[in-house]
Amino acid sequence: MREQRIKSIYYKLISLGYDIYLGENTSEFFVVKHCCAICRSSWYMNLTECYFCGMINSYLYYCRTCKNYSSTTGGSAVCSTCKQKRKKICFNDKCITNQKEFVEEFSKKNGVMDKNSPSATSQSHCINCGSDQNIYSSILVCLKEVKQNEKVKIDNDLIKKYDALIFVQQDNTKYLVVNKNSKKEDLKKFKDELDLSILF
Ligand SMILES: [Zn+2]
Ligand SMILES: [Zn+2]
Ligand SMILES: [Zn+2]
Repeated sequence: MREQRIKSIYYKLISLGYDIYLGENTSEFFVVKHCCAICRSSWYMNLTECYFCGMINSYLYYCRTCKNYSSTTGGSAVCSTCKQKRKKICFNDKCITNQKEFVEEFSKKNGVMDKNSPSATSQSHCINCGSDQNIYSSILVCLKEVKQNEKVKIDNDLIKKYDALIFVQQDNTKYLVVNKNSKKEDLKKFKDELDLSILF
């Protein structure tokens, strides 16, 4: 298989937030997903949440005086109306960091959700189900190239060894992803898009 083709599959996996571990053979690799142990939703190491209430970072600045927002990625930290510094606050109104008597304390520097703030932690709860348990789930994947009209057959040994097989048509950008649960009729269902939804 062309190197470029293989790389585009790696990039697709990386764009979905997975890590790839390659061996000597470029068409055989481990795909690792950091996910919730209960519901398997993705777990984001770069996501932060409020240490006090678990609220997820909104990535917004907030001006407490004028009650307006701007994005913390590219937006201005200075309020355009009152010219005061906007803060990265916790967006849970009931959070202790938003209680009148503590607001000043938690508004120091850039606010609670700033990456240098001791009040923000990395993701510790699943966004989907709230579980605090996360795992690294890994699967072994094999890439196989087939001719355009070639019938795909699945070797028993192959499907025992690998968790998923990705078939790629040689001169055609069509893909087929199969695993142990795929049925015989699924083996004909090549798609224009690389659909990786069955991997995890
Ligand atoms: Zn909070
Ligand atoms: Zn303002
Ligand atoms: Zn979950």
